[in-house]
Amino acid sequence: MDKLRKPRKSLLFYYGIFILILAIFNFMVLPWILERQIIEVDYRTFIKMTEENQIGQVQIQQNRILFTDKENTMVFKTGLMDDPNLVERLYKSDAVFSGQIVEQMSPIMSILLSWVLPMVIIFVVGQYFAKKIMDKTGAGNALTFGKANAKVYVQSEEGIKFSDVAGADEAKENLAEIVDYLHNPQKYREIGASMPKGVLLVGPPGTGKTMLAKAVAGESNVPFFSIAGSEFVEMFVGLGASKVRDLFKQAKEKAPCIVFIDEIDAIGKKRDGSVGGNDEREQTLNQLLTEMDGFEENTGVIILAATNRPEALDPALTRPGRFDRRIPVELPDLKGREAILKVHARKIKLAEGVDFEKVARMASGASGAELANIINEAALRAVRENRMLVTQDDLEASIEVVIAGYEKKNAILSDKEKWAVAYHEIGHALVAAKQTNSPPVQKITIIPRTSGALGYTMQVDEGDKYLMTKEDIESRIATFTGGRAAEEVALGTMTTGASNDIEQATRLARSMITRFGMSEEFGMVAMETVTSQYLGGDTSLVCSAETQAKIDRATADIIRRQYEKAKRILEENKEKLDELAKYLYEKETITGAEFMEILGA
Ligand code: ADP
Ligand code: ZN
Repeated sequence: MDKLRKPRKSLLFYYGIFILILAIFNFMVLPWILERQIIEVDYRTFIKMTEENQIGQVQIQQNRILFTDKENTMVFKTGLMDDPNLVERLYKSDAVFSGQIVEQMSPIMSILLSWVLPMVIIFVVGQYFAKKIMDKTGAGNALTFGKANAKVYVQSEEGIKFSDVAGADEAKENLAEIVDYLHNPQKYREIGASMPKGVLLVGPPGTGKTMLAKAVAGESNVPFFSIAGSEFVEMFVGLGASKVRDLFKQAKEKAPCIVFIDEIDAIGKKRDGSVGGNDEREQTLNQLLTEMDGFEENTGVIILAATNRPEALDPALTRPGRFDRRIPVELPDLKGREAILKVHARKIKLAEGVDFEKVARMASGASGAELANIINEAALRAVRENRMLVTQDDLEASIEVVIAGYEKKNAILSDKEKWAVAYHEIGHALVAAKQTNSPPVQKITIIPRTSGALGYTMQVDEGDKYLMTKEDIESRIATFTGGRAAEEVALGTMTTGASNDIEQATRLARSMITRFGMSEEFGMVAMETVTSQYLGGDTSLVCSAETQAKIDRATADIIRRQYEKAKRILEENKEKLDELAKYLYEKETITGAEFMEILGA
């Protein structure tokens, strides 16, 4: 979503113009106007006035004489003559010798000219341009300091429909009701039903939340205001709040319409009462709450908001009457991935016989945005190789690029390192295969990647699992430890390559105890809560320090047991381990099918 950054820039711009105009007035216009007020007289008149004592002040300049009348109401000038007795005569006439006649003249006038007039001009010109821009775009952008710079999508321009959003069927079903309401609010009003004012789209990044919101607008043919939560958070206290006010004012004028607030957690974070720093955000949030309470139900303004941190939202935001409906937008499953690939593949030229299901299966865990990226990378690869059509190969290669980064062409692993990586990766795969008797991997390569990974293992997508048994988890932990186990069994050493495995194994083992109630010692007690479900699943412990120490020990026990199991499996299959590692070392890539063939299973 591109954001309009304009107001900040235009503010600086206007300060610049303002100063420029001030300078022009003070150094050019003002002197000019003052000059015009001076009445030119001939020298004869000057002499006459001197003799008649009619001169108030006088100033002799380089090439002229300025003087005023006795009452100082008018300024005259005359040319400078070669007149030796001039000063003496002036002295006698009681004239006051003055330094600066012109500037003493009329302080009110000069303030008026040098300050007030420029401001008036700037204001008028600014209004004029603001109006012009507003007429053109339908939204004020020029002088909108402190105003909501929500972007309005006119439906015809974007035109995203539900059919463009693949998968996400539950979310679409949910949102279809809102579309129906926007089409026919009367139906709902008659029966006394009211639509929720706010709908929260919740899910990991890149799963199509923005797209869904746009699609709702596209389907219901109403204007779509879109703004990111972070845009409300301004440098100055109070501006965010005024932006919110303005946004809702605009929205009410354009109702029925949809307001989409992306990353609402930027303003909607829990108010924690800490002193200082958060004033601006809190004011903005309060204003948002007030606005949401302020408009009547059934006005036709529907607010959609997206976040990937629902747990961080202030409870006031999610209570009934505000964002009381929550629609989860999850990572796509196998079918969803296939559908998303197909939607994006409409834009590229495909060779015959591309198997999207296979690609979807390989790209397990990818988000919609990543899938879109995979299609694009595949097209780029085809162009690089001077082909007109995108092939299956392109697609498969770009999965690795998107998920693991580009191949690092010039990273050379030493011989020893290469053996270690080969054994490590085969170790994982072999332990997994022996436990489940099925191919554990699609493919393993030991070509270093730009992401820093030394090898890359593409796991087989096991389909969507909603439940895992204790045994499932244990065998996964064993598989995680399989890499390190192979290093020890085959090479009698340990490498740093296992750090990520260790982390994941630890997390799983810990969760068995603290979240899944799978340990005998602790039973069904929750000692951990997940704090960010959609962003890595961080957890926080809620138990005493003593218990923590016990948990740590029990975690280590679980992992040790699984590690022993992995080692046992590898020792029993030492020949296969050597054979597979040798194959991978030589070929640098092994597919799941080749793997199973060598294993003879
Ligand atoms: P979010 O707002 O959830 O972070 P976006 O809606 O911005 O994600 O999606 C980013 C991009 O990913 C979209 O522009 C689109 O190309 C692609 N995408 C994501 N989900 C889908 C989907 N379900 N169907 C088609 N494309 C999708
Ligand atoms: Zn590993």
